[in-house]
Amino acid sequence: MSELILVTGGSGFIATHTIVRLLMKGYRVRATVRSEEKAKKLTSVINHVSSSGDLEIAMVDLLKDEGWDEAFEGVAGLFHMASPFPAGSPKDEDELIRPALEGTKRVLTAAKKAGVPRAVLTSSVAAVAYGTPAKPEGELFTEDDWTDADQDVGAYVKSKTLAERAAWEIAHEDGAPVLSVVNPSLVVGPMIEDDFGTSVGMVQGLLTGKAEASPSRGLGLVDVRDVAEAHVKAFETEAARGQRFIASDEWMTMADMASILREAFPGRADKISAPQEGDKAERRAPSNAKAREVLGIEFTPAHDALIATATSLIDRGLV
Ligand code: NDP
Repeated sequence: MSELILVTGGSGFIATHTIVRLLMKGYRVRATVRSEEKAKKLTSVINHVSSSGDLEIAMVDLLKDEGWDEAFEGVAGLFHMASPFPAGSPKDEDELIRPALEGTKRVLTAAKKAGVPRAVLTSSVAAVAYGTPAKPEGELFTEDDWTDADQDVGAYVKSKTLAERAAWEIAHEDGAPVLSVVNPSLVVGPMIEDDFGTSVGMVQGLLTGKAEASPSRGLGLVDVRDVAEAHVKAFETEAARGQRFIASDEWMTMADMASILREAFPGRADKISAPQEGDKAERRAPSNAKAREVLGIEFTPAHDALIATATSLIDRGLV
């Protein structure tokens, strides 16, 4: 029988794409969600795009112990993707840090108890490239870099950094799953359902003129299909064990993104945020060399991934 993978936060943007990819590759998947409504929605989305029927659902919460032991029964691999990624910063940073940090500890500890041999964690470039000096011209952030969470980096960046640090600590304990980590930059690309998260929301904001197309905010962009593939390859590749992998294509500013969208969709250019003038953001661009080399990922150009998001939003009538 094929291996069973537990994917936490199964209803999320990246997780849904990853579940499709796992099913396509012949794995069985148990996805965790935290409501009946999300369970129904996820099952219907997956049934629409995959006929394998190998999806089970487990109802668990990152902040509660109940259900995790059962969720891990028979599991050969864990993809821990659940973590809050809201559009704004909460008043209390613990709203993000608790589910990210406590959740990661709870999930990895339960995986260890169940004897799960392999785990892949969805971290972020948020855990790589912030709170430290920018790189000299021409140098990129790599997997050797870590965000300094003691600096004023914001709740989300802090939550992802503390969670990844905790994951590596648990991974060093006897009997813990062998860990690999994927660190994506801003994840865009096509949608497979109408419900979207913060990263697609940023593109929607630009398409509707609601987001500021500022040159002072810069981000790496990566296609969700490449992020899903990076997780699967990180799970399957021997040389990926104990390693972290940045998943990112080109770094650009919000003003650059708006310019690309205006050029690609001239008929709606007047609705799209106008690229602003001003000082350009400090360049904190991540390198994808290790993911290309070890995982064999050929990254979709950021430009194409951005257009794919916009096309999905337009086709689905969401802008
Ligand atoms: P989504 O918001 O689409 O998915 C987040 C998932 O986490 C949802 O399924 C959500 O469940 C779940 N979740 C949040 N809080 C809890 C909780 N307390 N208990 C159980 N589940 C919870 O985001 P993405 O798909 O974009 O993000 C997935 C992962 O990728 C996250 O770890 C995020 O930090 C990381 N990431 C995302 C990037 C991006 O640009 N999108 C970039 C880099 C990393 P529910 O639906 O019930 O709220």
